[in-house]
Amino acid sequence: MTDLVELEKQLLWHPFTPMQAWCAQDHEPLLLTSAQGCKLVDQHGRSYLDGNSSIWTNIHGHNHPTINASIKNQLGKVAHTSFLGFSHEPAIQLAEKLIGLLPNSPLKRVFYSDNGSTAIECAVRMALQYWKQNGHPKRDTIVSFDRAYHGDTLGAASLGGIPLFKGSGNDFGYPTQRVSNLDVLQSMDTQQTEHLAAVIIEPLIQGSAGMQLWPRGMLSALSSWCQKRNIFLILDEVMTGFGRTGTMFACQQEEVSPDFLCLAKGFTGGYLPMAATLTTTRVFDGFQDTDKTFYYGHSYTGSQLGCAAALGNLQVFEEERTLDSLPSKIEHLRNELDRLSKKASVREVRQCGLIAGIELSPPSMIEAWGAKICLQARKHGLLTRPIGNTVVLMPPLATSLKEISEMVEAIALSLDDLA
Ligand SMILES: *Cc1c(COP(=O)(O)O)cnc(C)c1O
Repeated sequence: MTDLVELEKQLLWHPFTPMQAWCAQDHEPLLLTSAQGCKLVDQHGRSYLDGNSSIWTNIHGHNHPTINASIKNQLGKVAHTSFLGFSHEPAIQLAEKLIGLLPNSPLKRVFYSDNGSTAIECAVRMALQYWKQNGHPKRDTIVSFDRAYHGDTLGAASLGGIPLFKGSGNDFGYPTQRVSNLDVLQSMDTQQTEHLAAVIIEPLIQGSAGMQLWPRGMLSALSSWCQKRNIFLILDEVMTGFGRTGTMFACQQEEVSPDFLCLAKGFTGGYLPMAATLTTTRVFDGFQDTDKTFYYGHSYTGSQLGCAAALGNLQVFEEERTLDSLPSKIEHLRNELDRLSKKASVREVRQCGLIAGIELSPPSMIEAWGAKICLQARKHGLLTRPIGNTVVLMPPLATSLKEISEMVEAIALSLDDLA
């Protein structure tokens, strides 16, 4: 195992990871070797609760028999075929199920891609191309919010409002405008709004900003504002989709139906990279003529294995009545977090469904306090990652009440250890 760790440090480069510290002599990377339910096991056989759903992707726990079976069944037929020029049954069944989850919405078309960033870029490109070829070439600007996060590819990153994640880039290839809140939009005059192609937002809660909640009602007010001005609304539900906030999709809590709905992370239950951009018949109809075709796609668009995993994910939602189990878990998490928020070392606790951000009050002069607390939490059997000084707690929806308590307790103990 030591050899493996040496090799790992010699060969690999990790996302969002300062590599000098990673490769330092005294850092031993955790190699995760197996998992069951909400528990992950490392190279030494130690087990941990998956406190951030394996970077916000896992839904029904790991090694779930239904999703495993769905993938194995597909694997016995064919793993991947091109979606350019061909189709297949899992993709069709999945689209029918997805549209069926939004019965009262005009979202009627499904475009597959591979990850959250591509789901976003796809929506942005559809929106821009739609206006350009349907008589509104002036509508060329995409509005996003301060502290937004929509992914890391250049196109998605240019919508981001978190400087750290924007890298050295600025805005790539299309005009963007960042606003701090809805008031700024509402104070715009026609001269300004007639240039807007779309507004993009993470509904209810901004994830990478450190789990920041939007005020209740903001989403529906934004939706009406957009509708009145003929501006598209793009909802980034890459994090919030698939039950994370208590409903299947966050937008359902304010009865909002966007022009584009972007899904990824939990789409396959945390099994395979797969994404979808849902849109309306109106948008689809703007691409009918041959010279208006949407020339966009990726090699693995509509992956058969990905579709099979996503179908398995939705099957578990039905069979285990996952959404019905959420209110008591959300309530339980709220009660447990309440204990944390009373600690002097905690500045604020924010929660939306089964998503929580525990903002710490770091002792002065100490850097990367959130990271230190998360490292300490490993000793108490919890794996999660901070965003700055906010510890993220986002348990898989399948987490039991007891496991939720254990996760919060691990954070409480870590805070006490380092107090
Ligand atoms: C993770 C995330 C993305 C990007 O998804 P990737 O699959 O990492 O490209 C986009 N938007 C939100 C809200 C996310 O949380």
